[in-house]
Amino acid sequence: MTWDLDAIFPGGSSSNQFEQFLVNTETDLATMKLKLEQAQKKETPDFEEWASLIERLQNIGMKVREVNAFISCLTAQDVTDDKAKLLAGRTKQAGSSYGQLISVVDEQLLHFTDAQWKEFTKSGKMQEILFNLEERRNIAKEKLPSDKEQLIQQLMVDGYHAWGDLYNTIVGRMKVEIREKGVKKQYSVGQAANKLTDKNRNVRRHVFEQFEKAWENEAELFTESLNHLAGFRLRTYEARGWGNVLKEPLQINRMKQETLDVMWDTITKNKDVFTGYLYRKAELLGVDKLAMYDVSAPVSKKVPQVSYDDAADMIVEQFSKFSPRMAEFARTAFENRWIEAEDRGRKRPGGFCTSFPIREQSRIFMTYDGSASNVATLAHELGHAYHQHVMNDLPYMSQGYAMNVAETASTFAEMVVADASVKQASSREEKIQLLDDKLNRSIAFFMNIHSRFLFETRFYEERKSGLVSREHLNELMTEAQEEAYCGALSEYSPTFWASKLHFHITGVPFYNFPYTFGYLFSMGIYAKAVQEGEEFEEKYTALLRDTGRLSVEELAQKHLGVDLTKPEFWQEAVDFVKEDVRQFMELTE
Ligand SMILES: [Zn+2]
Repeated sequence: MTWDLDAIFPGGSSSNQFEQFLVNTETDLATMKLKLEQAQKKETPDFEEWASLIERLQNIGMKVREVNAFISCLTAQDVTDDKAKLLAGRTKQAGSSYGQLISVVDEQLLHFTDAQWKEFTKSGKMQEILFNLEERRNIAKEKLPSDKEQLIQQLMVDGYHAWGDLYNTIVGRMKVEIREKGVKKQYSVGQAANKLTDKNRNVRRHVFEQFEKAWENEAELFTESLNHLAGFRLRTYEARGWGNVLKEPLQINRMKQETLDVMWDTITKNKDVFTGYLYRKAELLGVDKLAMYDVSAPVSKKVPQVSYDDAADMIVEQFSKFSPRMAEFARTAFENRWIEAEDRGRKRPGGFCTSFPIREQSRIFMTYDGSASNVATLAHELGHAYHQHVMNDLPYMSQGYAMNVAETASTFAEMVVADASVKQASSREEKIQLLDDKLNRSIAFFMNIHSRFLFETRFYEERKSGLVSREHLNELMTEAQEEAYCGALSEYSPTFWASKLHFHITGVPFYNFPYTFGYLFSMGIYAKAVQEGEEFEEKYTALLRDTGRLSVEELAQKHLGVDLTKPEFWQEAVDFVKEDVRQFMELTE
């Protein structure tokens, strides 16, 4: 249940090999900087030189990713590893240097006249990454002149990202006071959040109240940090002449506004089925309406346990029904110890999958506790690893896929396993619990994330004309939740705008709708997989390989023959999820 990191670089944070590799990467970055400056100085651009520089830069990009992946593994497996923390400072710096080099390339792409562009992109190597080059050029066109963009980047460190850092600092020292068997105890917000799904409703309610109170206590500071973070973003958009706050997130996710609109529209039209499920769950829990803290609560007292070995066997077996290649890949990952699953101290909470593009290996991090949702998480992360696996031989620039499609392979893998678990359930009660687990996820994507999206768009609209007060943030949040859950809950979470980290992330704007997109997109794919059987594997792999070099609309058209700007595909995907509700309703009649 522990992973093998020595196969990547032996010796952990004291690894000499890693140190050498890192120094080597740093040297490459410095050399590349000089080379780019020289190439830039020439009166007429040397196309061959630029093409070879871009190729070399891709190799350096892979190295930077390799060192960052290794560091994230080290810091996750032992949060007290100080050597790893020091190394993390250096790898972050390498990442930032790489980003600067890329922006020099962008500047050059922009400088090419249209005629020069044609000439430059003629070579085979540039043709392979044409989508990515054109994308970079078009984005650069819509931004400010590069000296201004660079100034913005510099000001961001203290004027933008710092607000996100400040948020994390405050959250890190926050405590939630919880009474347990008459004794008051102090918990971190992460620990308290875990108790929100306790089997006992009185415990949940108490934790929820204390949790809300803790956020309310710090809300004054969060009001400031969120307002300023949003203000910086809006001023930047304004300077670039971008009126729509969704412009950047849509661009990053390579999708059209129509696609986003029709997705939410289809979900909204189908919500009655899902509120039906919420009302039934309320009945099962013996309440009129569910409160926010009941939505994810278990409906059964008996929670089935699966050993790690059984989970591994089951995952490989279920994958093989859809794709022998995926099954073989999962077997390799288990056998070569690519997964860190042990439950022990000093590990970071949560889970992730990270990839080493040069070694062509991945590593998965999680803490396995034997619950059904843990088995699904394991499958989910293996899905991410498989996605990278099928892209390994592509040029590095074409391997970059956005968050909305990143969650496609993972959710697909998760569904294959979650569905099988439901089918194999040994009793009616277990089946109900497993279906409830699945529907819990659907509710998160259709309702909770919808509420985040509604809140965030409205907040940014209001922020355009001034600061938004703490009371009004609470109001906006509650309204968004009432709307997204169709009024089906008895209590909402007014301070959710403060407690949800995603609103305070500065790395990626609008960290919400891509989740729902990925979920439904993979549902649509899964529905096709079930219909098509054996032929599906090849199509699926081809689709995954194109996720870094097509817009989502083109991707869906090319590989699934569907139009994402029309409701049909989305409706089919939602119908597929509705089948879970139907089963749940029947079993709990
Ligand atoms: Zn994921």
